[in-house]
Amino acid sequence: MPPTRPSKKQSDQDSFLSVDIGGTNVTCGLVSRGGAVLATDIFPRAKGGDGPDELIGTIVGRFKKLWAAADEAHRPTAVAIGAPGWIKPKEGVVVNAPNLAGWVDVPITQIMSQALGLPAMLENDSNLYALGEWLAGAGRGSDNQITVTLGTGVGAGLILNGQLWSGSFTSAAEIGHIPLGPAHRVKCGCGRIGCLETVASATAMARMAREWLDSGRETLYADSAEGLNAQVLAELAEKGDAMSIHVFREVGVALGQILSGVFNLLSLERAVLGGGGAGAFQFIKDPLLEYLETRLVTAKIHEIQVVKGTLGTNAPLVGAAVLLTAGGY
Ligand SMILES: [Zn+2]
Repeated sequence: MPPTRPSKKQSDQDSFLSVDIGGTNVTCGLVSRGGAVLATDIFPRAKGGDGPDELIGTIVGRFKKLWAAADEAHRPTAVAIGAPGWIKPKEGVVVNAPNLAGWVDVPITQIMSQALGLPAMLENDSNLYALGEWLAGAGRGSDNQITVTLGTGVGAGLILNGQLWSGSFTSAAEIGHIPLGPAHRVKCGCGRIGCLETVASATAMARMAREWLDSGRETLYADSAEGLNAQVLAELAEKGDAMSIHVFREVGVALGQILSGVFNLLSLERAVLGGGGAGAFQFIKDPLLEYLETRLVTAKIHEIQVVKGTLGTNAPLVGAAVLLTAGGY
């Protein structure tokens, strides 16, 4: 079903429940039909993996609290679920998710719908994120764009001719699993070797920094390797740290390599970078654009835009309003 911008036909008063199941955190929220985020509840995933029964039960509990706290005017009328990995949106099934251990063929829409007594829709987490940025964030005003999320993994959502591109099978735009080439030998969560995700995810940024640390090269970082993450690296890069700047250059070049193919294939006009790893956007952008410039054939480099997302963890909640309105709820 092609998502469109929310219409005013239904009541602007009612609202939707939405959940974004990330690799590290889960974000639950209540969002108005127009895309205004009314309430959020963010909690960390259980260490060592949480199976579907446990995690869905927790989300339902959190949803009931958000529902109870909603005033009479904002009673939720439907639920949107954003899940990572390979999903079947039409069937409402999470097929297999590398970052959700133990989740295989989980009919999450049916389970959530029965538990809450509300209709539910499932979409890939990155697609919801892209819909949010397109409606109300850095994607506004462009109808041919890709939003790339740099988190535990690397996901993407494609808006083509003003509609979310879903493809024929599981959700489309699995950019994180496009191979970078023979020089890249790190095994990906999907089981394959050298996917974009093995360089450009926030997880990979921390790994590359640990490798730098292990090699004894110069860095301003003086704490333990376990304390390294994308946010720490972004703060170090601001101070001119060679390790962090090296990591973000690697990320920028890898993204430039894959995005040059995507831009050329689809003649896009914009790429939005979101997720925790995009906190270092200013250090990723230049190497990315330098690479793009050498490869772009469908446009001049000044005609396209690579921008940082503006909605953060609210992006998939805003995207839920687009999805559910388009679904007729
Ligand atoms: Zn992969």
